[in-house]
Amino acid sequence: MSLRSACRNLLTLSCEDAARLVSDAQERRLTFSERWGLRAHLAICTGCRRFRQQLKAIESAARKLAGQDCVSSDQSVAARERIAAGLRDRLGPQ
Ligand SMILES: [Zn+2]
Repeated sequence: MSLRSACRNLLTLSCEDAARLVSDAQERRLTFSERWGLRAHLAICTGCRRFRQQLKAIESAARKLAGQDCVSSDQSVAARERIAAGLRDRLGPQ
């Protein structure tokens, strides 16, 4: 990565590019010029800062929800076992 490329990114990053980089940063490590370009853009663009905050909030909520799903799955297994035990009691041995 050249200094020239990093500087070009600092000066030319559009909101669309910044939004894409904010999203990409959730999945991969950004390059040096991408990171600095994004930082510079976020320093001057309220809309993209807000977008990043919203994306982080969504990610956080999704992680919490995923954790709850695990608990729900455990509860479902326990519920299925109770139902199966109840059916065995009613139907008797087969
Ligand atoms: Zn922007």
